[in-house]
Amino acid sequence: MGKKTLELNDGLYDYLLSVSLRENANLKALRDATNQIEMNVMQISPDQGQFMSMLVKLTGAKNILEIGTFTGYSALAMAQSLPEGGKVITCDVSEDWTDIAKQHWMMSGMDSKIQLCLAPAEQTLKELLENEYAGVIDLAFIDADKQNQWKYYEYCLQLLRPGGLILIDNVLWDGKVANPEDNSECTDDIREFNKKLFKDNRVDISMIPVGDGITMARKH
Ligand code: CA
Repeated sequence: MGKKTLELNDGLYDYLLSVSLRENANLKALRDATNQIEMNVMQISPDQGQFMSMLVKLTGAKNILEIGTFTGYSALAMAQSLPEGGKVITCDVSEDWTDIAKQHWMMSGMDSKIQLCLAPAEQTLKELLENEYAGVIDLAFIDADKQNQWKYYEYCLQLLRPGGLILIDNVLWDGKVANPEDNSECTDDIREFNKKLFKDNRVDISMIPVGDGITMARKH
């Protein structure tokens, strides 16, 4: 023991959830609705949602930026942990996915805390920079198309305040990043991103094997 992170088999993961997951009815309803749609594997795991809402509280974040809304689970989990006056700005291009999100944010009474930008993320990020959001964001979550991930990361670094936190999702990519025989474009993009971030001394990093793997990058 002590050398590596414990491997979570199904039984142990179920145990972990049974003694720690406090998913409320609003989040559960959104999870169930998302499970009805085809791309439901893109939804973050409930324990990851809980971990992220813990990070919102620990960092005292008020201004959150999310790239990749999907059906809105992560935005809802984070919005619920925001203090009065806090806001999640979240970007996506899919009207279908974000319609589910909007409906559930409204039902949860969180819609006033979440601002959806339905446009290519790069356009929204540029607009935020032009509108004096540079250095304003406390916490950013990047969970969108992997080929543009580094671009999004660079924008987030500019938008983040010093000491702010970027969370990057899917850094372990279902284990494929460690399979030398997997050279699909997405896997390569994620490997390349991880390698670059490892050498980026503008941030402190920690890679966490929760969900599909998250890297936390804290801006100096
Ligand atoms: Ca993801």
